[in-house]
Amino acid sequence: MIAGSRSINYLRISVTDRCNFRCRYCVPAAPFSVMPHHEIARYEEILKITRLACDMGITKVRITGGEPFVRKDIFSFIEQLCAIDTLSDISITTNGALLTRDKIQTLIDLGIKRLNFSLDTLDPDRFAAITGRDRFKKVWDAIMTAHALGITPVKINTVVLRGINDDEIVTIAGLTRKFPFHIRFIEYMPMGDLHVEKQQPQMLTSEIRRRIEAGIGPLTPLTHKAGDGPAKKFQLADAPGVVGFITPISSHFCSECNRLRLTSRGFLRPCLLNDYEKDILTPLRKGATDAQLKEIIQAALKHKPLFHTLGKNRLKDIPVSHMTSIGG
Ligand code: SAM
Ligand code: SF4
Repeated sequence: MIAGSRSINYLRISVTDRCNFRCRYCVPAAPFSVMPHHEIARYEEILKITRLACDMGITKVRITGGEPFVRKDIFSFIEQLCAIDTLSDISITTNGALLTRDKIQTLIDLGIKRLNFSLDTLDPDRFAAITGRDRFKKVWDAIMTAHALGITPVKINTVVLRGINDDEIVTIAGLTRKFPFHIRFIEYMPMGDLHVEKQQPQMLTSEIRRRIEAGIGPLTPLTHKAGDGPAKKFQLADAPGVVGFITPISSHFCSECNRLRLTSRGFLRPCLLNDYEKDILTPLRKGATDAQLKEIIQAALKHKPLFHTLGKNRLKDIPVSHMTSIGG
């Protein structure tokens, strides 16, 4: 699939807008309700859209949420996804809290090789304050178990928030000296109405990187390979792991963006940071043909913006959607 000069081969599927956590940078500050079940795409509907998208050039899929593992029968869905033979890569982003050893082993048996965990702090009390849940140990155990069972690489996403966890940047980066993890520091994206203030002044990558280098030593850049994704990768001396930076605000990577998103409500979303969405679930439920559904996918891609403006017009162009509903 082509969007302007970009070739789109990566679909991010949000399987649910529900989550067992309440991360303050992700869920709305105001009381909010989740979508009624009948408005959420059923697994067979997601699989149908995914197969059509694969016919059109999608080869990589990431499952996300909300929290994917709160959705019933998720393992059976993953099994069916893994059976699509044109998909060369299936990965999952999770908060990890529900991933026991057995479940991680099942994922491996199904063919999942890569997992991304979200972890913003190594302090259990702070973890509870950020996520609203006292689950640090469960998440840490899931990360260590994934590592022990051979998931490679184990990726860890850390959203850096000034005054909340920025004093842990060096310690978290230092984990790459001990473990072959890929730790990715993500610039906070202001979206909708969140529990965190609009984070002025925001922690941008230049500052995060400076602090790591001052605290623990130089970061050597690694060569960026095709298909590497948006993280700019570095390594500390003698570290088996990798430090990555994801810079949606300070240096957007829109010209290289190869992604299309499918939200839990069955809308195609060409850009995370732009609220344009195209409903594909309703036409599917009304009996649209495969050709018509493919036209809808193509039409959605025509709306993939050349770049987002979140860094430039802060507070003006903030998407109204929340990450829990889109999938990050
Ligand atoms: N529940 C899963 C998890 O936490 O990994 C998957 C969904 S979550 C929306 C996907 C990713 O989005 C997580 O790594 C999370 O840290 C990130 N995220 C959520 N809100 C964000 C924000 N406002 N700015 C930057 N990243 C955010
Ligand atoms: Fe849930 Fe993930 Fe959002 Fe946290 S970041 S509230 S775990 S969806």
